[in-house]
Amino acid sequence: MLKRILPYWGLIAFVLAITGWLTSDFGFSGVAALSALSLLWFLFQAPNPCGAPIRAASRTCRNNARGLLRGCHLQQHKWQRMRTFFVHPRLRRCAAQLFANPVTGLASLGAIVTMVSTVITSTLALTGKGGS
Ligand SMILES: [Zn+2]
Repeated sequence: MLKRILPYWGLIAFVLAITGWLTSDFGFSGVAALSALSLLWFLFQAPNPCGAPIRAASRTCRNNARGLLRGCHLQQHKWQRMRTFFVHPRLRRCAAQLFANPVTGLASLGAIVTMVSTVITSTLALTGKGGS
């Protein structure tokens, strides 16, 4: 029985952390420790499909993997999982298109700066904190 439950120790820590939040029995440091342990389990131990992008269009690897950051047994998938966790492939493709060459990059940078400026000044104007 214990041997079947032991691989899922992170879920037990997760349930205990949620219980700690709801009941305030463990204190903040206890809940923080349980949450950190559970996070480590989800990142490095939780069983899940690999999910690394493969050559077939819009398909992902379906091999078994352990943890969100670790890929399956294929070495390349381990790096791909790590990369997709920090920068989404669609975001990376979008950035590659926006900054394809210096001229396009300059236009993209100008568009981003003016978009941020428009959003900030519109917000300030609507909230009445813009001065005049
Ligand atoms: Zn894989």
